[in-house]
Amino acid sequence: MTRTRPAPPQAPSTGAQATLYQQLRAHLAVLKLADAAEHLPAVLDAAAAEDLSVTAALERLLSIEVDATQARRLAGRLRFACLPTPATLDDFDYDAATGIDPHLIADLATGRYLESATNVLLIGPPGVGKTHLAVGLARKAAEDGYRTYVTTAADLAARCHRAAIEGRWATTMRFFAGPTLLVIDELGYLPLPAEGASALFQVIAQRYTKTSTIVTTNRPITSWGQILGDTTVAAALLDRLLHRSVVLDIGGDSYRLRDHHARTHTLRAAAHHG
Ligand code: ADP
Ligand code: MG
Repeated sequence: MTRTRPAPPQAPSTGAQATLYQQLRAHLAVLKLADAAEHLPAVLDAAAAEDLSVTAALERLLSIEVDATQARRLAGRLRFACLPTPATLDDFDYDAATGIDPHLIADLATGRYLESATNVLLIGPPGVGKTHLAVGLARKAAEDGYRTYVTTAADLAARCHRAAIEGRWATTMRFFAGPTLLVIDELGYLPLPAEGASALFQVIAQRYTKTSTIVTTNRPITSWGQILGDTTVAAALLDRLLHRSVVLDIGGDSYRLRDHHARTHTLRAAAHHG
């Protein structure tokens, strides 16, 4: 007895099969499933060759589309994030940084802080790896699917200044409210004009309790009054930033503040009087 295998679907033996195949391709085109469409002939070949069930063949086809979609989304998130350096958490050398607890960074790398809208404050002198850690955390967050954006305090202030002039203040505030993780690098390197300090305060205030912000600074909290040109604004900003936060003092001890009112109170008092 001779049994002939059906011809491979990409070379249909009957007009009806050819029509079905063309309809399937058209469906994929309408749904913009370009990767599934591209791999359709190969998957149908494999389905025939391996005697795959309809379920298995569909799963194989759609998993190709899902992989491609996830890769596109990741690339989009990384583009949006504007990471300034290729730094990753993996290439951070803990032996070279004093006061950084690897377990604390490993805990942050899980992204749990993002779920509780916990902020991270990285304090330390220039060159100790503050930007490296902030960018590494931002990269990890983007990789894990969180909308992430990295900027500097000076850029944020300049952008808000332009927005105010051009009548786009509300849009710009919404923009800075959007990311699940916002990194504000280099607070304190350049003095902020009063308007810049006020923009920074508004960005921190509107994100407060909703979503996480990482701030890096080379200046101790006690001198934020000077950085921001106003001790009241500095105290109000620190209040929100530190209320639920992890503080990493690089070059000193690393320690954690989580609803730690006593400590926050001390810092606040210092900012008032600093
Ligand atoms: P900061 O922001 O504190 O001024 P950076 O993060 O820009 O410092 O670090 C300066 C350079 O040194 C960067 O290229 C950074 O990748 C590198 N660097 C600093 N600390 C470390 C570290 N502990 N492990 C690996 N690289 C580091
Ligand atoms: Mg830096």
